[in-house]
Amino acid sequence: MTRTALYPGSFDPVTNGHIDILRHALDLADRVVVAIGVHPGKVPMFSFEERVAMIGEVARAAFGADDAARLEVVAFDDLVIETARRQGAAFLVRGLRDGTDLDYEMQMAGMNRSLAPEVQTVFLPASPEVRHITATLVRQIAKMGGDVRHFVPAHVADCLARRLAEKS
Ligand code: ADP
Repeated sequence: MTRTALYPGSFDPVTNGHIDILRHALDLADRVVVAIGVHPGKVPMFSFEERVAMIGEVARAAFGADDAARLEVVAFDDLVIETARRQGAAFLVRGLRDGTDLDYEMQMAGMNRSLAPEVQTVFLPASPEVRHITATLVRQIAKMGGDVRHFVPAHVADCLARRLAEKS
């Protein structure tokens, strides 16, 4: 039986923190589906297609072709648990950076448990070297000309630089 994990988020863009969680998710599941939430009205820095391409590229570099092949990326605009059901996921993966994440994630996990008791939430603690990283701060630092190479793979840093050059 294939064990599928669903890892939902924005991934705008994918960071070293997301890669850390993905690495552990690939240890726990046979197949990991990264579910990118797309919300009408919320304009992301990178389109869904750009985020898919970035995740594929950095996953192959970080995990190798065989493990990266166990990863899929989909878009969703409905409830996470409905996406989990469509994908046949046994569990949701969420990363925990700090107490703020924990409080929010406990609420989400509780609501999701009520809505879909068959879908378990698994929390993975951030590794110390990446626990301060958030995609929001990465975007802000990049926009202000800061060096984001400590926080994202080189390929993503290049994509950020290109996007910002287009805008200026
Ligand atoms: P962000 O909060 O950085 O904008 P997302 O909304 O895409 O990122 O987050 C998706 C999931 O990844 C969430 O479970 C979040 O807690 C987790 N995550 C994001 N950054 C990190 C990190 N640095 N370490 C561990 N988990 C993280």
